[in-house]
Amino acid sequence: MKCIWCGERKGKRECPAAGAPVCPRCCGERRVLSAACPESCPFLEAGRERDARVYRKVLARLPPLERERHEATLERHPEAIARLEYTLARQRFRQRDLADRDVREAVGLLLESYRAGEAGILYERTSENPRVEGVRREIRAAVDALGRSREGEGAGLPAGVAVECLGFIRSLVDAFQAEYGADSAYIDFLARFFPGEEEGGSILTL
Ligand SMILES: [Zn+2]
Repeated sequence: MKCIWCGERKGKRECPAAGAPVCPRCCGERRVLSAACPESCPFLEAGRERDARVYRKVLARLPPLERERHEATLERHPEAIARLEYTLARQRFRQRDLADRDVREAVGLLLESYRAGEAGILYERTSENPRVEGVRREIRAAVDALGRSREGEGAGLPAGVAVECLGFIRSLVDAFQAEYGADSAYIDFLARFFPGEEEGGSILTL
């Protein structure tokens, strides 16, 4: 039987979202992004394990000094990184035309703001581009919420930690671009990895 999506290749996987056989390629491409994959799907689970390997591989290709710095950040602030990645994944579903370059620009604006914050200067750069501004606000809100208690007390993530974590995200955007060259390689990756409404752990805990 042919794949119900492309109608060309053999439908080797019984897809619970389509209720019909699909080919491995369509499964990989549509997984979570345009198919309502249930958490119980074994192909989804295997796909996530593959993703965790991809993430490690991309990290490993960063220049050595950069890589060491980012690995240290990931070790020190795994929850902050996971929260930022999760935020980007959710934003991908809200703004379907979001591209990695929008994320890069938004992160760059925030880096400027938080660096100024480190120097004690209150300064907020915004964007005229609604896609960039949308994702910038979401990341900003996530960073601000990170250092707070459930009661909403506290000042948010310290500016220095925010700079470290955002620097990590920006390097990964670049590394995914270098590796795959697609417009939305990084955020598609994140969107597939964090599909649920509930936040998962770090990608590397898999
Ligand atoms: Zn197919």
